[in-house]
Amino acid sequence: MYYSDIVGQDETKKSLINAVKNDNVSHCYIFEGPKDMGKYDLSLVFAQSLFCENFNSEPCNTCGDCIKVNSMNHPDLHIINFEEKTIKREDIDILIESIYKKPYEAKKKVYIIKNSHDMTLQAANTFLKTLEEPPKDSVIILLTNNINLLLPTIVSRCQVIKFKDINQNEIRKFLINKYNIDEVKAFITAYYSKGILNKAVNIATGKDNILEKRKEIIELFDNIIKSDSEIIFECENYFEEQKDNIDKILEIMMLWIRDVAFIKNNMGNLIINKDFTELANKHAMGMKVNDVDELIDYLQSVSENIKNNVNYKLTIDRMLFKIQEVFKIW
Ligand SMILES: [Zn+2]
Repeated sequence: MYYSDIVGQDETKKSLINAVKNDNVSHCYIFEGPKDMGKYDLSLVFAQSLFCENFNSEPCNTCGDCIKVNSMNHPDLHIINFEEKTIKREDIDILIESIYKKPYEAKKKVYIIKNSHDMTLQAANTFLKTLEEPPKDSVIILLTNNINLLLPTIVSRCQVIKFKDINQNEIRKFLINKYNIDEVKAFITAYYSKGILNKAVNIATGKDNILEKRKEIIELFDNIIKSDSEIIFECENYFEEQKDNIDKILEIMMLWIRDVAFIKNNMGNLIINKDFTELANKHAMGMKVNDVDELIDYLQSVSENIKNNVNYKLTIDRMLFKIQEVFKIW
């Protein structure tokens, strides 16, 4: 693995790399941040850096130690709570048993504790004793999504590293480099991922079909505003089938209306659905700009109304009529 495989967290990566280079590594770290931010991956690269025989800002990925880490087969790399369940006293006893022994192959031993906040109080107290007399050749990395759930006496003995949100720009660059997708698709994918890297990857690899859904909805929207009111009744079956997806559909529609409004206001550079610019331009020609805010408000209330058991079919019909009123151009 490489640091460059991990998106964002540039400052954190820099400080970890420098710590390895300057032989200034703490004996215990806490990586805190939301799920799916790359905490576990970064802890593995960091461990690999500590083992690697040729470390130079990145692990070499060719030495014996690197190969063993990459195949998750290094005798000095210990993953505690791999399954992310509760960490019991016995789990910490096993850790303590090995932590005071010499490393097998590398200069250091690394312990990565996943979901470290899931320690029972007994386990945490036992673990605390290890931190009070930390063995010099060990590095412990506690991963958590909420540092407040750890004992303050543990936190105070560790170097805390907070993971920052990944911005859309970083996600976009990552998708272009890693998945070789074009600039426009990377931009749209980054937007629809809302800063969640795993979601972005799923969209880019097709596991998440939001972009196909988007195409379907934009085409439907086009059809609705091109047709007379009969189409609204023809759409009823479709919306009935899509009842569970309605929030997703509303979001796509609102984003589309927002894009068209940007074009209408000569701010076309701000649109998200860049691959549908031509169609958005067409829709902008007929848009009654004064009524757009009201339409967006209505769409926002639709989801709420449906949750409150207002008649679904009626709510959707009204929404489609309103869309036709604001956009009807043919
Ligand atoms: Zn190496």
